Amino acid sequence: MSYPGLLIWYDQHKRALPFRGIRDPYGVWVSEIMLQQTRTETVAGYYTRFLSLFPTVQALAAAPEEAVLKAWEGLGYYSRARNLHRAAQEIATAYGGIFPGDYEAIRALPGVGDYTAAAVASIAFGLPYPAIDGNLTRVISRVHGIREDVGIPSVKRKIETLAREHIDRDRPGDWNQALMDIGATVCVPGTPECAACPLAEKCNARQEDDADLLPVRAAAKPPVPVAVGVGLVTCGSRILMQRREAALLRGLWVFFLVEGYSGREAMQKKLRSLGLDVAFKADLGEARHVFTHRVWNMRLYHFETSRPSLVRDFTWTDAQALGALPLPTAMKAAKKAAETILNAAACIE
Ligand code: SF4
Repeated sequence: MSYPGLLIWYDQHKRALPFRGIRDPYGVWVSEIMLQQTRTETVAGYYTRFLSLFPTVQALAAAPEEAVLKAWEGLGYYSRARNLHRAAQEIATAYGGIFPGDYEAIRALPGVGDYTAAAVASIAFGLPYPAIDGNLTRVISRVHGIREDVGIPSVKRKIETLAREHIDRDRPGDWNQALMDIGATVCVPGTPECAACPLAEKCNARQEDDADLLPVRAAAKPPVPVAVGVGLVTCGSRILMQRREAALLRGLWVFFLVEGYSGREAMQKKLRSLGLDVAFKADLGEARHVFTHRVWNMRLYHFETSRPSLVRDFTWTDAQALGALPLPTAMKAAKKAAETILNAAACIE
């Protein structure tokens, strides 16, 4: 039993998005991976560009990882891009480049969880799997009046059962997308727009007038603050860059970083211990970046050296090459400052 009126509403009100209406599993998959943890409006622009760079699963599989990370630059949560790349290679080798068409095989791909597998299976292959994300959880908990913490496994299962019972078997992909759209535009967090909702007549939260309190969620732990020193170390018109090996931002390029930073002198000392004789040039102020579980409170400095010795795991890069490297959003302020410094140095040279 579907929700009456839901698909009629969807046919009239669905959001115009570049990945709407497509059934190609590769395109659906890319859009769903991008939509994990990123706003739909942001994804729309990235999606079109990504598909023009890597139009098929084979093209993505054959691309160097750095090119994939570069195309992902600014979207954040870069493990998604690395997994997307690995999964494309798996599809190319294990499935001859043909996207697998059953739920279990899709679910087994790197970076694919229950939600993404269900979204791809339902939208691209018409299989009746509900794609339960934050939007669906909110709408279902309100419609059915679930007033327990939706983070508890038994409550999650209850929502899954309800979704399975109500999914439209003829149009499961549209059913999922309809609930995603209702959750994004009508049944929004806080106070929903019940007057515009096709589910209003059957909605328990509307009847009880407590939709703004649902879904119930235990408060999330706030991200842990970490002090980070960022050193822009230049030699003329070149700057010291490092490819991250740490799990956070792995594969992306960053400036000289000291996590757990303890002052400019300590950074200078650390640089000297790497064999770089640097002089302090300027304090470039502060920047902040919030990750899921931690916040980087960054202090930016410019150091200069006249001898660009080779430093293990680092490379010296000019402004043009810097622009081509995949850098995380956390480095946005530092990159802007670095470009100003490098461009000024290039004018003098
Ligand atoms: S009636 Fe209101 S609370 Fe219920 S699903 Fe619709 S928008 Fe959400």
